[in-house]
Amino acid sequence: MVIGEKRGDSLQLRAVNACLQLLPMLDGKALFTVEDLAPLAPLPGTGSLHPLQQVLVDGHASQCGFCTPGFVMSLFALYENTPACPTRDSVMEAISGNLCRCTGYRPIIDAMPAAWALPRVGIGRTAVLAALDEMAALPTLEYRIGEQCFIAPRSLAELAAARQAMPEARLVAGATDVGLWVTKQLRPIHDMIGLGAVPELKAIHRDAGTLAIGAGASLTDALAALVDFEPGWADIARRFAAPPIKNAGTLGGNLANASPIGDSMPGLIALDARVLLRRGERLRRVALEDFYTGYQQTALEPGEFIQALDLPPAPAGRLFRCWKISRRFDQDISTVCGAFALTLADGHVCDARIAFGGMAATPRRAPITEALLLGQPWKADTVGDAMAVLAEEFTPRDDLRASAAYRRHVAAKLLQRLWLEASGVPASLSGLEPQA
Ligand SMILES: Cc1cc2nc3c(=O)[nH]c(=O)nc-3n(C[C@H](O)[C@H](O)[C@H](O)COP(=O)(O)OP(=O)(O)OC[C@H]3O[C@@H](n4cnc5c(N)ncnc54)[C@H](O)[C@@H]3O)c2cc1C
Repeated sequence: MVIGEKRGDSLQLRAVNACLQLLPMLDGKALFTVEDLAPLAPLPGTGSLHPLQQVLVDGHASQCGFCTPGFVMSLFALYENTPACPTRDSVMEAISGNLCRCTGYRPIIDAMPAAWALPRVGIGRTAVLAALDEMAALPTLEYRIGEQCFIAPRSLAELAAARQAMPEARLVAGATDVGLWVTKQLRPIHDMIGLGAVPELKAIHRDAGTLAIGAGASLTDALAALVDFEPGWADIARRFAAPPIKNAGTLGGNLANASPIGDSMPGLIALDARVLLRRGERLRRVALEDFYTGYQQTALEPGEFIQALDLPPAPAGRLFRCWKISRRFDQDISTVCGAFALTLADGHVCDARIAFGGMAATPRRAPITEALLLGQPWKADTVGDAMAVLAEEFTPRDDLRASAAYRRHVAAKLLQRLWLEASGVPASLSGLEPQA
């Protein structure tokens, strides 16, 4: 499905996974499904299908049809959001969260330029914006079924009060984690506080070199801001889930879910991020590395929530990279996620922050390797020594995704990759191997 929301004076249209949206999360938003496309924006002369649907039919791009509505809506969001025919790469990126098991992707990818060759159509944005304005004037949602309620505060102050009054309630931001507890684990979830209608939580600010990201900012927006702040985020921004998940899921949800393989934490810990926690009127800041107290455990107190995340200004000479290693390129869970923030001055390492996901019960720094690097000349021998230490620093688990030995090896290899990328040496000529 595609969700429409007002951003400034414009209509923002984004594809999300229908199966992960809880009904009350849609309150106050415009919802588009395949059924809506032809009535809203028909292909001139036919009237029964949207151009994208027509070219998918003409190109035999649907067989069993199970996946087709999802593909149509991902393509529709891209079609509506781009002023010129999207490139093949952006089409592939847009549908990277949609799986087809019978047709094959070529006719689906080809549908976009084919639709672009037809007369251009578009939904009536003014009418949608007017309807959104009307809904924004309605009172705060309190949706009740039996004993269960879902409330959706409209401001930070309302949220803080609701959270304090209902500390047992489950906060729900994008529901890309919570939704799976419902659909896959059949876990009962009682009262819920939705975060999606709190505008302050979505704010992103750059100020005097710092970056502050509201906990309710979507992963799409948060990752774009992080790449802008530090281009070394590019791999994570591309490899973190797929657009429909990034459009719904939030940075705060990723941090609070506290998965040891969450992809945002290693990079943020390496960049010395702090989370701003709020309980009622009380605010406190906690270094992200101290926020994780155990496997899926955080320092959040009852009644508290994450309001925002802050990143300090980048020191001069900082080298930052963050990489996700997984079995599949798109839509996969990290086996290891490694982040390196080294500050170099006069050819020496004067600060080192290295953090990993997938290597321990929580996202964790590598203090022994950091200490070894500190003050050392930034050269191949130093990197080789540090790789040997790094390969032994963690005691990861064997699991379905990888063996512990593989994880240790790959962690060390990521440091080698940092060295190679920074020095422009082709990997095959480096002669560096971890000693472990
Ligand atoms: C198909 C798929 C692919 C995925 N791929 C990735 C991936 O590549 N990398 C990755 O790291 N994750 C991935 N995820 C996991 C998920 O998308 C992220 O963890 C996401 O950031 C969760 O955000 P959310 O807003 O959806 O959280 P929700 O599901 O709404 O909430 C998650 C948890 O955080 C709590 N919470 C939410 N906001 C706050 C807050 N402000 N303060 C306190 N607690 C809060 C909730 O109560 C809940 O316990 C994937 C999930 C799916 C379904």
